Amino acid sequence: MSQTPLLRVENLQKSYGEEEVLTDVSFDIEQRDVEVIIGPSGSGKSTLLRCVNRLTEFQGGDIRLDGQSVLEMNENDLRRRVGMVFQDINLFAHLTARENITLGPKRVLGMSGEEATGTADRYLAQVGLADQADSYPAELSGGQKQRVGIARALAMEPDILLFDEPTSALDPELVGEVLEVMRDLAEEGMTMLVVTHEMGFARRAATSLMFLDEGSIVERGPPERLFESPERDRTAEFLQRLT
Ligand code: ADP
Ligand code: MG
Repeated sequence: MSQTPLLRVENLQKSYGEEEVLTDVSFDIEQRDVEVIIGPSGSGKSTLLRCVNRLTEFQGGDIRLDGQSVLEMNENDLRRRVGMVFQDINLFAHLTARENITLGPKRVLGMSGEEATGTADRYLAQVGLADQADSYPAELSGGQKQRVGIARALAMEPDILLFDEPTSALDPELVGEVLEVMRDLAEEGMTMLVVTHEMGFARRAATSLMFLDEGSIVERGPPERLFESPERDRTAEFLQRLT
């Protein structure tokens, strides 16, 4: 029985001007999959995520969400269904944690203020910040801000969440709390595409690990397989440097 994957990236090709950044990238993500993407700086990891929710346009191939090409989807609908958590935690400074979260559900999902507040409080509790709902970003630690960012993405009830190096701007002692929230999400069955070099997270939470280099998938498979018996020298060398 063949089933439509939740996300299908098909012969994706992307250039910035003359520079080809992604070359013939293809992979499927099923519901509840947690794909961790690793690769050197400049290999195209962020660009790949940005193509998925069309923050940037691509020149070749296609990306399908539940069978439908993202090129045919309304942008608001696409951005609602594909949530994104960035390295830079871009919360509005003049809004509380709760207000940062209610914005999207009110504007995009058409929720009433009351309903959006209930949603925000539920997701704040999920990321362990029920007691910080009225705090402003300046009153929160980097780890707490990033957890608000995750709650904000979850409040849109996305089909899939993309994470672009969510912990790499954090002080080392704050990384763990964010990874823990992400691990819980993975266990609850959230479908996730995660660019991270936190290999502890990859080992514990990823269903698949993808090594991207110079815009192509060098190797992809279950994390333990890549860690223990990588097929390509480049994969082995890169993983060695990480761990
Ligand atoms: P990674 O996230 O793996 O570090 P990126 O996807 O950010 O890699 O970048 C891949 C390549 O695309 C790099 O060579 C980078 O310089 C180039 N690039 C990224 N964004 C832009 C942009 N907006 N304009 C032009 N080139 C870009
Ligand atoms: Mg990047």
